[in-house]
Amino acid sequence: MDTQQKILEVGDGHMPALGFGTWQVEGKECVESVADALLVGYRHVDTAEAYENEREVGAGVRRSGVDREKVWITTKVWWEHLSRDECIASAEASLDRLDLGWIDLLLIHWPAYDVPMDEPLAAFRELQARGVTRHIGVSNFTPAMVRRALDVAPVSCIQAEYHPWLAQDELIQIARDHDIAFTAYSPLGRGRVAQDETLREIAEHHGKSPAQVALRWLLQQPPVAAIPRASSPEHRRENFDIFDFVLADDEMERVAALAEGYRIIDPEFAPAWDR
Ligand code: NAP
Repeated sequence: MDTQQKILEVGDGHMPALGFGTWQVEGKECVESVADALLVGYRHVDTAEAYENEREVGAGVRRSGVDREKVWITTKVWWEHLSRDECIASAEASLDRLDLGWIDLLLIHWPAYDVPMDEPLAAFRELQARGVTRHIGVSNFTPAMVRRALDVAPVSCIQAEYHPWLAQDELIQIARDHDIAFTAYSPLGRGRVAQDETLREIAEHHGKSPAQVALRWLLQQPPVAAIPRASSPEHRRENFDIFDFVLADDEMERVAALAEGYRIIDPEFAPAWDR
């Protein structure tokens, strides 16, 4: 049995594959949730300037008392801030708000349709050279956009929506081919896991919950990471307790067969996904 947290190589860094998502976790609740997640054992926290909680994420990490070097912090620059100067200002403001010394992974949150991607990627390289961020990556990029980004910058992680109801074969294959990481966001389908009969059957067989099966399914795929959010302390503990069982090949296939193109996050500024 694999009882250890899975660690992914991201550039020359090491990113724990199970992270804690913080979208819509704000204020005091955010400070407490992040500190509690670190107490449980999470060593990777996902935030963004757009979540308006970077100060609280930083405070939660400090409150936990866990050594900063042992925690992986991902944050993101919003798509309306991708001109060179705005990008630099945005990342520096995130660094200030987090107040944790550096950012481990800085992502372009969404591609912008009005700014060529070379501009923010060049700014990200500058920020990386200055030590503002240790690693850079992209989020919500189509496969064609990711290929283009990989041509011009040392992108070491792709973040995208991924759960049993939305396949991401092409992006994951790109990650494998380029030896970079792939982080699944909304990995619990925003709670849909709890209602799924297939996940429930597999979960019963292992004495686990449907959420644990979904997270295990994600992490058993190289090089996939997942960042579940949980405001409930019980859910936070449950979601971290996935390193003592293994899904068999046929169970992996049964979960993969649930894919039906169900996309939860699809705002009006999203790219045309099939291009
Ligand atoms: P998610 O993690 O798929 O689902 C969160 C929901 O699942 C919450 O309602 C939570 O309830 C529930 N839940 C948590 N653990 C559970 C369990 N063990 N059993 C049953 N239900 C459970 O959704 P998400 O927040 O959309 O995605 C996770 C993170 O990904 C975000 O927080 C954010 O950091 C990141 N993200 C990034 C992007 C991007 O554009 N790059 C977009 C979306 C999300 P409770 O809160 O009651 O525990």
